[in-house]
Amino acid sequence: MHNIKLFLFTALCLTVHSVAAQTKTTSRQKMNVFVTNLMKRMTPDEKIGQLNLLTPGGGIATGAVVSKDVESKIKAGNVGGLFGVIGVHKIRQAQELAISGSRLKIPLIFGSDIIHGYKTTFAIPLGLSCSWDIPMIERSAGVAAAEATADGLCWAFSPMVDIARDPRWGRVAEGAGEDPYLGALVATAMVKGYQGTSLAAKNTLMSCVKHFALYGAAEGGRDYNTVDMSRVKMHEYYLPPYKAAVDAGVGSVMTSFNEIDGIPATGNKWLLTDLLRKQWGFSGFVVTDYTSINEMIDHGSGDLQQVSAMALKAGTDMDMVGEGFLTTLKKSFKEGKVTQLQIDAACRRILEAKYKLGLFEDPFRYCDTLRAAKEVLSADKRKASREFAVRSSVLLKNNNQVLPLKKAGTIALIGPLANNKTNMLGTWAVSGDVQLSVPVLEGMKSVSGDGVKILYAKGANLTDDTVLAKRANVFGMRADVDSLAPEQLLRQAVETANSADVIVAVVGEASEMSGEAASRSDINLPSSQQKLIETLAKTGKPLVLVIMSGRPLTITREVELATSVLLVWFQGHEAGNAISDVLFGNYNPSGKLTMSFPRNVGQIPVYYNHKKTGRPQPEGETQKFRSNYLDVSNDPLFPFGYGLSYSSFDYGDIQLSDTVMAQTGKLIASISITNKGNFDGEEVVQLYIHDPVASVTQPVKKLKAFQKILLKKGESKKVSFTITAEELKFYNSELKWVTERGVFNVMIGTNSALVKRASFFLTK
Ligand code: BGC
Repeated sequence: MHNIKLFLFTALCLTVHSVAAQTKTTSRQKMNVFVTNLMKRMTPDEKIGQLNLLTPGGGIATGAVVSKDVESKIKAGNVGGLFGVIGVHKIRQAQELAISGSRLKIPLIFGSDIIHGYKTTFAIPLGLSCSWDIPMIERSAGVAAAEATADGLCWAFSPMVDIARDPRWGRVAEGAGEDPYLGALVATAMVKGYQGTSLAAKNTLMSCVKHFALYGAAEGGRDYNTVDMSRVKMHEYYLPPYKAAVDAGVGSVMTSFNEIDGIPATGNKWLLTDLLRKQWGFSGFVVTDYTSINEMIDHGSGDLQQVSAMALKAGTDMDMVGEGFLTTLKKSFKEGKVTQLQIDAACRRILEAKYKLGLFEDPFRYCDTLRAAKEVLSADKRKASREFAVRSSVLLKNNNQVLPLKKAGTIALIGPLANNKTNMLGTWAVSGDVQLSVPVLEGMKSVSGDGVKILYAKGANLTDDTVLAKRANVFGMRADVDSLAPEQLLRQAVETANSADVIVAVVGEASEMSGEAASRSDINLPSSQQKLIETLAKTGKPLVLVIMSGRPLTITREVELATSVLLVWFQGHEAGNAISDVLFGNYNPSGKLTMSFPRNVGQIPVYYNHKKTGRPQPEGETQKFRSNYLDVSNDPLFPFGYGLSYSSFDYGDIQLSDTVMAQTGKLIASISITNKGNFDGEEVVQLYIHDPVASVTQPVKKLKAFQKILLKKGESKKVSFTITAEELKFYNSELKWVTERGVFNVMIGTNSALVKRASFFLTK
């Protein structure tokens, strides 16, 4: 009887499976037939037209160019898609030009930089990554997709998954930090969140993973700068998140501005064809970054015709803004420099994307004004934004349990970011209205209730440096200079502080001091704010710093001076409410850093998964002829994975299910954790592995797993991780993903620097 049931069940599973596979093949076949028939009717010019992505302006132009004569180009069939067009009405108008104005009525694809939310803005991606809450990160992309598709869009230039070890680079704000394992999980979650289970659904977007590849490794942290890296390093540390996005089915890939092995990514055949398509099996389309084909001229790869042909042949399908394809490919074809097959392949991939999005079925399917009215800026999205924000906060210091604040007494709320709307969203919030932000003062008043008196003083300008202020004000006023003199602002701050029980100082960067083209060689707080903190510390009152920034900052001195430090990054529209939720203990912070905080700029790059070197500095005193500095220790101010809670967690010792593991076997590593504090709280339990002897030297540790657990006060839990050969692999010098027998060290802890240890032996 049992066997029959098993047989029937297996048969049913096989049938369901083969029906699903068949449906997939038939729908693929249908698409092929449709696209092939359409392409038969297209002229060579119309095919090249599909490869052209334009922006009519009105959004944020990040390069020098904004497209001209967009309407006539659409009607002539010279445009495949648009970005930077915001709002359902404008998108409908543009789509109408293509549908009623162009010969073949091929719909346009509409993209946008939906980086951390759409019109409802969420915490910046670096902040979201600090939640280590992968399901929540996926949900954030899903919420953004629902809102953006209701407003006419179908394509998101996100996620940005560039691993970065250099906080001078302003674009660290857009990524998930320094670790490839966490980065890959975030990449997968974002793609799934945007794309859902079907691109054809009306509330899902096609995702575009960027910037392929290695853009985060720009020399000196200077944006757009050269990258040079060994193959082993790129495979081990930089490529995994892009690969994860491809494995998750991402619909499109954006090339990066940098070069790889001396060949700009946009024209790099090894990257875009051999690795991306042949090795990884990517079947979507490749779009350039903003004018990155044209920029190959300045890189030194040839004139516009040469670099456009080079990009197409390398595997680039769509040209963002530069019109190199539009203006030169026909000539190159006539001269035998590109083939019709190459143009057709690119055109086909773009038409396929449009087909998958359902645009041929109904070009206006994302232009539903009723949906727009219901979804855009809806209350549930604001609520989600607040939730994402609280979970992005990282508590860096909390002496004397000053936090959470009591909902009683007098609080001096001070600082240039304490009552400010324009800096709450952070960088790359192109569709977010800064005026809809909740400033901290407003949030504190509403969260604290009537029992608390809140006094406010600005205390300092964001910066007194007018040159820096001007650069931070490119997209509107972010760093204004007060009509009161700096000394007067300081005096007011001290008076306010003296009348209170506790000081909360909200300090940091202006939102545009990080982001694209916002590299900094000095990542201190601006000196106006340093002075403010020094002065406030002298009052002797407990001093809570709330730090907003788009990157790790060098804040050694400020952390010393403060009693408590809460890092909030930029939290989006609900910033003021979310920060107050954490300050007053409505939420117990659980975020952990995903990028190390350097002690000073000279330490950069400082990252947890570094190599040991042949002369490692032993613990303790700086030793001569060891790898160290004379003037600063090797360790960061705050390590990767670091973050406190209002509670404290005690870790037991690691229990291994065995001390020997076979290649095909597995091993369980367990540890018991106890919440010793007075609050219920969440803890991110992190597992690292070190391979001390290998044919390619290995870093001191690699994150291989983590679990975010909730522990009630006083509660203990046993957390178990399964280790298989997969967690022990590395790229050898032939770029094979292998294990080698020998001893492995397992580490489990609350951050990358504070871990318990055990070891086992991997046999053949
Ligand atoms: C950025 C991309 C962005 C594009 C379109 C470029 O400058 O590097 O990340 O998607 O502009 O706005």
